[in-house]
Amino acid sequence: MSLLDRFSRPLRSLRLSVTDRCNLRCQYCMPEPDYVWLPRESLLTFEELATLVDAFTPLGVDRVRLTGGEPLLRRDLHVLVSQLAGRRAILDLALTTNGVLLAEHAARLRAAGLHRITVSLDTLSPDRFRALTRSDELHRVLAGIDAAAAAGFAALKIDTVVMRGVNDDEMVAILEYGRIVGAEVRFIEYMDVGGATHWKPSAVVSRREMLAALAAHYGRIEAIVEQSSAPADRFRLPDGTVFGIISSTTEPFCASCDRSRLTADGIWLLCLYATAGTDLRRPLRAGATREELQRLIQAVWSVRADRGAEERLGMDRETTLIPIRTLRKDAHLEMHTRGG
Ligand code: SAM
Ligand code: SF4
Ligand code: SF4
Repeated sequence: MSLLDRFSRPLRSLRLSVTDRCNLRCQYCMPEPDYVWLPRESLLTFEELATLVDAFTPLGVDRVRLTGGEPLLRRDLHVLVSQLAGRRAILDLALTTNGVLLAEHAARLRAAGLHRITVSLDTLSPDRFRALTRSDELHRVLAGIDAAAAAGFAALKIDTVVMRGVNDDEMVAILEYGRIVGAEVRFIEYMDVGGATHWKPSAVVSRREMLAALAAHYGRIEAIVEQSSAPADRFRLPDGTVFGIISSTTEPFCASCDRSRLTADGIWLLCLYATAGTDLRRPLRAGATREELQRLIQAVWSVRADRGAEERLGMDRETTLIPIRTLRKDAHLEMHTRGG
């Protein structure tokens, strides 16, 4: 029987942020000129990560996603992948990446046992990519997507954060591109989370607006009815192409949220919006047994009542939730530290 929180939500999906470092500076995630990084000695080793995962799986975790920062910056990530892929309790092992280093790593990650890959891609224009990420690497991201498609993952997805006046005119182009490379595209509403210091309500393109824009181009869009705790609602175009929308800002899905996050230094966060977490590194390094770690995890999850995106929606604020001076004091509040 799985462990339930206060709203009867099971503990199932665990996102492991394997590094807080990143090789891009996306406007909606890391727009500032400089950042404070987690001390290197605080980062969990692969063995420590695997030990913690082994404490989570008997409590219901069967889906693990590696993220960051940029997870492919973590040296020898395929070694961690093969360790986790060997765990029978993990039914779904996935990775979210910005794709810059993916061409070099895709085949090795597949061989190590990674099931699924999601690549973040917000534009197909090199100029816009430069403005959005402060980098010239779009060609490498596209090569990474090609390599992932060739490597034969069980699923390849493209995640696109849609921002008004920035890339909202590219939704059709990205869907068409996804069709060509065999990737399911998911459009994400721009969220007021962590490092999104430039967020403002007027920049959010809502799910309703996205559907209207796509229907104006393609015609009737059919909603796919499915029972799932996955964040994306899925839709079908008249030609059969399936895509998703993650409406985290205007229609949050906290009621069915079974996700939690572990930062690269072992802080366990129960919600993307959580302002504090549980330090699992300290007991781990102090020699806690797996049973002791499990008891801690169990005690924390059983009183979880987080519903950050719903609460954020209720606030109806024009300004960001976490001011920059607060972010500067605690790197754990940053999206690139907690893993998207
Ligand atoms: N660096 C990797 C990447 O970009 O795919 C993994 C980590 S990144 C934090 C994970 C996801 O969070 C990305 O798909 C990114 O687009 C999303 N993200 C970051 N900031 C966001 C924001 N303010 N609103 C919506 N999505 C955001
Ligand atoms: Fe962009 Fe991901 Fe890096 Fe954030 S962590 S700046 S979303 S690539
Ligand atoms: Fe889950 Fe928190 Fe996101 Fe709601 S805001 S879906 S509770 S992580």
